[in-house]
Amino acid sequence: MAGDRLACRECHFVVEPNAETCPSCGSSSLTEDWAGYVWVAHPVESAIAEEMEVTEPGKYALKVR
Ligand SMILES: [Zn+2]
Repeated sequence: MAGDRLACRECHFVVEPNAETCPSCGSSSLTEDWAGYVWVAHPVESAIAEEMEVTEPGKYALKVR
């Protein structure tokens, strides 16, 4: 369930529905059209984070359209 939350098109960071900009990269390109997410707790140790070029802990959408 994606709910009403938004995902950043630039870095895939998942943000609250009322957010206007991405707290991770500062982009205002947010979308409701995303699916699935991964919780990255320790980006430095995570292969997924490395693949997604994630550096900040948080939730990241797997698919953003
Ligand atoms: Zn972002």
